Formats: sequence, C-alpha cells, structure tokens
Amino acid sequence: MQEVKGMSGKGKERFVSRLVTPGEPLCAPEEFMPGPGTYTDDGHVRAAQLGITSYDFKARVVSVKPVTGHPRVPRTGDVVLGVVVNIRDELATLKIVADEKGENYSGTYTGILHVSQVSTRYVKVVEEAVKMGDLVKVKILRDSAPYQLTLKDARLGVVAAACSNCGGLLVKTLAGQLKCPRCGSVERRKTAPDYLFVERRRRGRRGSGKR
Ligand SMILES: [Zn+2]
Repeated sequence: MQEVKGMSGKGKERFVSRLVTPGEPLCAPEEFMPGPGTYTDDGHVRAAQLGITSYDFKARVVSVKPVTGHPRVPRTGDVVLGVVVNIRDELATLKIVADEKGENYSGTYTGILHVSQVSTRYVKVVEEAVKMGDLVKVKILRDSAPYQLTLKDARLGVVAAACSNCGGLLVKTLAGQLKCPRCGSVERRKTAPDYLFVERRRRGRRGSGKR
C-alpha cells in the first residue's frame, strides 16, 4: 500500500472498508477527495448513500459503493452465529460471523457476552457456558457497538466446540455429554438444541444395530 503523506500509520486505520450510512463523515476533504457516492459538507466528506467505503490511496479519492439488495446488518432481537475470540472471567467477546441461517453480514461486528447474560441461573464465569473458539448461537440485546449479546433462551448456545485438550471436535452423546471422540475428554458448555455434531442414534432397522 502506498504511503500517504502527512498521515500517521495509526491514522490510516480509519480508512478501511466498512459499511456506512448516509451522512456519515468519512474523512476530511484534504485527506481524500469526494468520489462517487459521497458529498462534502461541514468540513467532511460524507456518505451520500448506504454502502461500503472504498479509499483509493493512489488517486486519493473516497467513494461509497451501494450495497445491492438489503444491507445485512445484525439487529436487536436477531439470533446470530458468533465465534468466541476472547474470554475473561465475566466477559466473552464474539465475532459475529453470520445470521442464524449461516448467511454473512455486510461488514464485521463484535459482540460482548457478559456473565449475567449466560443463564437464568447464577453463573460465576462465562467459561461455564462457552470457551475460546466455540461457534455460538446468540441473540442480540442491543445493536449499537459493542453489540450486547445474550444466551438466555433455550434455543441459544454453543453449536460447535473443540476439545480444550486436543482440539478435536466435541460430539454430543446420546446421554447429552460433550465428549471428544479423539481423547475421550468430557467438557461442559451451554449447548444449543441444534448442536452440529451429535452421536447418531442407530436408525431403527431392526437387527442392524450391530457395532
Ligand atoms: Zn480431545
């Protein structure tokens, strides 16, 4: 990427592609000239339409490309899929990767799951329910950044988890345990009813249930 004169490395972080709404300030006119989908007002280049920003560092032009169809933004009340990217005693940070049906959003969103939102009963640490790297079905409580998430619903929970011991995918056994088929380790999570990897009940063709 070309060096931008008079712009510190830190300042350049502002100029990454992202979803913007009409009127949102993008930069100063001295930084980038207004291109398609933008206008200048009140000392800022602003988005003229809902879309994705594109900063051309060579031509020093910023433009906003319209999002075709409906922009896909997670909203309050939506059930989404997120990956746990950071975890502390009372807080897990999730990267929201897709909606409930697995379709991606226009942009990247981060959500916070606080220990008080893990369960209707008392939970001491978030790790009683989710762990690093888990794919989790969560509901959005508040859709302004950072998104507030909740697990307080029977249909919410971990849908895919890896063994903390060996990294193998944990399988939900018929007894309801999460067990690692590789090393035999048993772990605890708050799983969603549609956890992805389940031990198959032997299909009922009588007599074919041999192991
Ligand atoms: Zn394992």
